[in-house]
Amino acid sequence: MGAKHNATTTVPGVRAVIAKNKTVEIVDIPLPLGEGTRLRVTNAGICGSDLHILEWGISDIVLGHEFGGYDEAGTLWAVRPKSSCGTCDTCDRDLAHLCRDATKDMNGISAQGGLAEEVIVPVDRLIPLPSTVRSHEVGLVEPLAVVMHGLRRGRVETGMETAVVGGGSIGLLTVAALLHRGASVDVYARHEHQRLAAERLGANVHSSDEHPNAVHDVVFDAVCNQESFDSSIAACRPAGTMVEFGMFWTPVTMSNEVMFKEISVVPSLYYSHNHDHDDFVDAGEVLGDMPDLSDTIVTHRFTIEEAVEAFRAAADR
Ligand SMILES: [Zn+2]
Ligand SMILES: [Zn+2]
Repeated sequence: MGAKHNATTTVPGVRAVIAKNKTVEIVDIPLPLGEGTRLRVTNAGICGSDLHILEWGISDIVLGHEFGGYDEAGTLWAVRPKSSCGTCDTCDRDLAHLCRDATKDMNGISAQGGLAEEVIVPVDRLIPLPSTVRSHEVGLVEPLAVVMHGLRRGRVETGMETAVVGGGSIGLLTVAALLHRGASVDVYARHEHQRLAAERLGANVHSSDEHPNAVHDVVFDAVCNQESFDSSIAACRPAGTMVEFGMFWTPVTMSNEVMFKEISVVPSLYYSHNHDHDDFVDAGEVLGDMPDLSDTIVTHRFTIEEAVEAFRAAADR
């Protein structure tokens, strides 16, 4: 616009998926510039929270918080999309993931996301990966980091009996991470294709209608509604632990079974990293060690031009 006839029309742009009026649009955005590392995105995931973000009505933000890609030197990175202030009392206590500013500058929510050909990422968000992780599966590192945080919160150890309620992508990634840890896993899943995938990973599969046996040391709720919460509590042995992965989009009520069995109900939010661990690094390791994982879990792949269809498929579960 305006009278200046400069070279703006020849400035290269990149294709990107933006939120617009509770739906998505594929547009050209200006080439991302600024401080950080430029990544050519090779893979980005859509998850349930993207659908909630759209519902909130945010607009003109490039979506995508599960992504990774190549830098200009050809190194493949996963991206931790979240920031922390580094100076508040919570950050001081080595709990940066619970910093109140954690989502102030989050890729795909409040900063440009990874559903684009290119993105500039602050250097401290880049996660190195084992050479066995392939470029078309880096989008799985973020949801797998969510899962690794849950295993940390639930203090899962080799040889434990565990259960997962729910066979969506978080549920199946939890199954994989638990098996990788050397735990035995029962999974309770609604759909046949979810049970087949869990079985292929090596879990003992059950229908979600089945009443679980109260034999598990740690149980993961990867659905987060009243029914899955109750099943998870039912699956805990006395003095067991139940890890909650979801957000309570509708409130959930606790029954006295929590009391009678003294179940520890443990919320697990995002992922953490501090002086002694990084859930993203652990996630990269699991992904690198399990070459069949991405093919078992990823049911659909789309190009950036097919993003509208991809979001429709995600909404359809
Ligand atoms: Zn997500
Ligand atoms: Zn902070």
